[in-house]
Amino acid sequence: MESLTLAQIAEAASGKIIKGKAEIKIKDIVIDSREVKKDDLFIAIIGEINDGHEFIDSAVENGAKAVIVDRQINDYSNLAVIKVDDTTKALQDIAHYYRMKFKDLKIAAITGSVGKTSTKDMIAAVLAQKYKTLKTSGNYNNQIGLPLTLLRLCSKDEFAVLEMGMSGFGEIELLAELARPQIAVITNVGPAHIEQLGSIENVAAAKKELLDSLDKSGTAILNYDNEYTRKMAENFNSKLITFGFSAGADLQVIENKFNKDLNREEFKIIWQGKKLKFYLNKPGKHNIYNALAAIAIGFLNNMNPKGIQDGLSKIDFSDLRMEIKELENGAIVINDSYNANPISVRAALDVLAEMKGKRKIAVLASMLELGKMEKKAHLEIGEYIAKQNIDLLITVGEIAELIAEGAERTAMPVEKIYSFADKASTLKFLKDNLKKDDLLLIKGSRSNQMEKIVAEL
Ligand code: ATP
Ligand code: MG
Repeated sequence: MESLTLAQIAEAASGKIIKGKAEIKIKDIVIDSREVKKDDLFIAIIGEINDGHEFIDSAVENGAKAVIVDRQINDYSNLAVIKVDDTTKALQDIAHYYRMKFKDLKIAAITGSVGKTSTKDMIAAVLAQKYKTLKTSGNYNNQIGLPLTLLRLCSKDEFAVLEMGMSGFGEIELLAELARPQIAVITNVGPAHIEQLGSIENVAAAKKELLDSLDKSGTAILNYDNEYTRKMAENFNSKLITFGFSAGADLQVIENKFNKDLNREEFKIIWQGKKLKFYLNKPGKHNIYNALAAIAIGFLNNMNPKGIQDGLSKIDFSDLRMEIKELENGAIVINDSYNANPISVRAALDVLAEMKGKRKIAVLASMLELGKMEKKAHLEIGEYIAKQNIDLLITVGEIAELIAEGAERTAMPVEKIYSFADKASTLKFLKDNLKKDDLLLIKGSRSNQMEKIVAEL
């Protein structure tokens, strides 16, 4: 952050300076007391588990010059204090105030049911070839993470690429209000966060809040192959770039091939009448979609195909997404254990199908947050697997047994299906049975922590 005075911060947060001089300079704004450094301001956020007000001692020990709190606190010598009604809102308001200082900054915001982080990483890699670019780190995509990202901006930045997540109505609207993006990307709409929103139509409506936040000069970048985002494109009246494999997309893939020797996706697109080739050093047709959004933003910002490809070659992917690792015994693992929902599990199974491997093995734990769709969604994944060339299906945990049931119903031979109660028994089986050149996909929702299996293999 570039320093702000206590007065500026108090004004932005609609807070009252209880103690401290208005002109003192704050170096950085932090919400984790362990990360506080000398001359920082600590905001005491009330989280689900912890209340930041309990960590003021630790923030002061680490050198905090000021705090923002919602109540009266003990007196610390030399600690400036701003009081507000709601500390989370204060963080958001300060972040918005700070973002608005950068008049020439361009912001691209990304939402969608799956692929937000991957797309964000790709867009940032492309733009970084030509522009000084800040991106959301990891998955900091919510009402706290997004403001913290905005506070990392500096005057040299020309672009910021921000991931926006949501689990209900109004959340994207709030994030967009804070960031005021000029470019809005929606990767797709599918059955994720159904539990909170009730239907895919509602998920689509909640994602569309990002488009509604754009002003007339803004640009939407939308997936033309997804029925919900296509509908949004058809009804969108300002500048628009659509992408996909379907005819009619502005950026259309006309050929694609997975290069098994280099483990890379190679694809040809048409853009404004020109045929252009690109590649991506990651497997997965789904990653081509993510790359298309990045290519679109590259073109929109006057980059040439070479610059865009250079960026795509240097993507710094976030962890646990399609990580390929060779085990000591020569088996290959696709570690996609970051998260799982019906769209991303199918995408990962497609990767398992297209990569080289003597035996294809899917190790799947449950998909969570599906609400009333839970049973059906797991059964359908089982059906999908049964129709593919998969040699072994291994499910982990009770809910994931429904995947096995779906596969069995669709005539997958029972000797190819194993269901284990937990990770430990799965791990033992894998250790005893994995062979050289086996190809193994590991996936499950975040709380299943399936990466622990990979670590122990
Ligand atoms: P979250 O909601 O948890 O933040 P996200 O939308 O940021 O997720 P990623 O982290 O990019 O999504 O990817 C999540 C999972 O979905 C990974 O397993 C990844 O391999 C897969 N995936 C990524 N992009 C796509 C896509 N376009 N279509 C389908 N699956 C995808
Ligand atoms: Mg994410």
